Order: sequence, then C-alpha cells, then structure tokens
Amino acid sequence: MTVLVQRYLDGILAEHAGVDHGALASYIPELAEVDPTGFGLSLSSSDGYVYESGDAGVQFTMQSISKPFTYALALDQLGQADVDARIGVEPSGEGFNKISVDQVTNVPKNPMINAGAIVACSLIPGKTLEHRFDLVREFFSACAGRDLDFDETVYLSERATGSRNRGIAYLLDSFGALGADPDDALDLYIRQCSLKVTSTDLARMAATLARGGHNPLTGRQVTDAAVVRRTLSVMVTCGMYDAAGEWVSAVGLPAKSGVAGGIVAVLPGQLGIGVYSPRIDAKGNSVRGMLVCRSLSQQLGLHFLTVSSEAHAAIRGVYAPRPGVRVYEVHGDLLFAGAEQVVRTATRECGDIDTAILDVSRLHTISEPARGLLAGLPEELRALDKQGLLVDPDGSVAPDPSAGMVFATVEDALTATEIWVGD
Ligand code: GLU
Repeated sequence: MTVLVQRYLDGILAEHAGVDHGALASYIPELAEVDPTGFGLSLSSSDGYVYESGDAGVQFTMQSISKPFTYALALDQLGQADVDARIGVEPSGEGFNKISVDQVTNVPKNPMINAGAIVACSLIPGKTLEHRFDLVREFFSACAGRDLDFDETVYLSERATGSRNRGIAYLLDSFGALGADPDDALDLYIRQCSLKVTSTDLARMAATLARGGHNPLTGRQVTDAAVVRRTLSVMVTCGMYDAAGEWVSAVGLPAKSGVAGGIVAVLPGQLGIGVYSPRIDAKGNSVRGMLVCRSLSQQLGLHFLTVSSEAHAAIRGVYAPRPGVRVYEVHGDLLFAGAEQVVRTATRECGDIDTAILDVSRLHTISEPARGLLAGLPEELRALDKQGLLVDPDGSVAPDPSAGMVFATVEDALTATEIWVGD
C-alpha cells in the first residue's frame, strides 16, 4: 500500500462527507429503505491492488451498473454484428426509462437505457431463464473476482412495481425487437439489477475492463479486448444518464451509475474506481459519487483525454557506435503514432550515415500497424541508398527474419556491417 494514495482517497471522501442533498430512489420501494449515509470509495490498480476508504464493504444493488456488463456479455456471446443489429450506440438524449428507439428500425438507441438493456438481456443465450441468469451472474462474478450475491427483496420489490419496464418490454416485443419472450427478458433484467456489489467489487470490475477483460485479481481473461473497447465506448457516450456530456468534460472516465447510488468508472490501461453513496440527483446519479469522481479525476489527473505522453518518447536513445552507423533504441508500448515518428526520424536523419540500426529489444508491446511501419523501415532506407538493420531478438517486429537484416544483438548487426564493408 502507498500511504499517500490512501491519504488522497480518505481526504476526498472527507471533503464531500458533509454533502447531504439528493434523495434515495423510491420508485423501487425497497431502495428507499437503505441507510442514506453510506459512503464508500475503492480504487483498484491495474495489477489488482485495491485501496478502500469509508463504507467500501457495504453491499448495494447494481441497478443500471449491470447494463454495460450484460451488454459486454451479449457482445462476447453473439459477436458485434448480431448485437449491433439489435441495439444502437447513440446517446438517446432522453431519460433512462423512456422508450427510445430508432424511428425507422425500432432498435433501442443504446444499451445503457432500459430499452437497450432489456434487449441485451433478451439476447443472452441459455435454455431457461435460470441458465441465462447463471451466465449473467457468472460473468459479473468473474469480472469482480468473487461470487456476487442476489438481493431477492429488491428483486421482488422492483418486479411488483415495475409496470413501466414491463410496458417497455412489451412494446419492444411488439416491434419484434427482442430475442426472447418479453417476460423472460424483463425478469432477467430485474434480476441483474438486483445483484449485489460493494464499491470494492465495482473497482475490481472496472479494473477488469481497464485491463481489456483480464481480471488482475484472478488472472482470468473474462472477455476480449474488442468487447471491452466497445463497452467502454458506450459507457463514455451514454453511461451517465443525461449528464454524459458534463461527466466526460469534468471527469473524463468511461463510467456507469445506478439508482442505488453506485458508480463504476474505468481509466483504460490504468485503474478502476467504485463509489457508493445512495442519495441521487434528479438525473439518477449519486450526488456524492459524482463529486468524488470529479475530485479524484482532478486531483490525480485521471481524465482519459489528458495528453500525457508524446510519441517521440518511443525513442529511448540514439548513438553512433562507429562512423557511418546510427543506432535507434526503441522502447515501451508502441502504437501507430510512436512508430511513425521513429521511422520518420530515422529516414530524415540518414543523410550523414550508411546504416541505421533499429534496436527493438526493449519493446514491451507493439500494435500491428506500428509493427508494419517498423518492419518496413529497411525498405524505406534502401530506397534512399542506405542500409536498415533490425535488432529484434524476440521477433516482435520481424517474426520471420528471412530478409537477413534481423539480428539478436547490436554487436551482431555491427559485425555483419563490417563483413559487408569488407566485401
Ligand atoms: N432497475 C432500475 C430500473 O430499471 C435501474 C435503473 C437505474 O439504475 O438507472 O428502473
């Protein structure tokens, strides 16, 4: 544990502890019975270490926080094309419980409103409703890294009073928008909303999304990176009810809130956050949860659109081991922009040398477009009458070293140039 981080979290919680506006959700009678003062914050690092502050062990129902996870499960099980044919990805601009469907196709605008979430539930495969709920619960539990409990009282409370959602399910059915019986789709929806989490569970679920579907606690790959990317995209545009624009501007984290007072927020590649405070505002978002996330983002610099590292950071060092030869050491996680800069630098500077050696032995990861660019550098240099060599002991750039320009060490590459010079 880092004491400083713990102090930050405790300080942020203390900063907002006195805020008591907002009200408990009461349209689901059981939600009006919870302790309104509950206040918990958890933060999971991308390697699974969790910091907790306040009531981080208090359980509450997920409600709408279930929506992105069921959407992810539908994507995982059916593939994107089938899910896209049934659920859109556009912000609806309307309340979460409006029947927002595309005028022409009758497809719900997005999976974060009730209509889209009920369709997502109707797509979850399984012979019976029980099987489908098992699949949902297992998926959520795998993201959290522990078996999540079900709150039967909240479930029954919503089922007894959920005429509006029943109406939405039947309307969707009348449009032919559902993949299953409307009662089953609705029941699964209410069940998933009644799964119980703590803010720590949410932080862990967020960390699993932050790691592209890999749960850092259990080491299990729960789903794949493409599913996560799509899920996070929809969380950015539609995750915070009608406050999505304000949220992304002020906080800048893909997130989802629920009317029980939880918020899950993800900083891709870096961390996951879970907050709980059950008093919500008129839009349905936890009042203190929003404040905490805003403070966290500002004080810890978490906005996902913060421009933090420039592409040239990809080049770790440049040196001339002997006249006419220059070595470029590339390191870290290389994406398109970083690779473009490496290739442009090497070709721009090659006027005064015969040979450029690209040493990629310290690369951590490389995207496919970046790999293609680096692998093409020798050819670009050849066109300029220069020689380009690659030091790539792990084959991360040139898995097939048949071109004869790939070496295990810089020394090997230099020896080869000496022989060629000797020729
Ligand atoms: N079960 C709730 C409903 O459908 C979830 C609402 C929410 O958290 O936004 O009304």
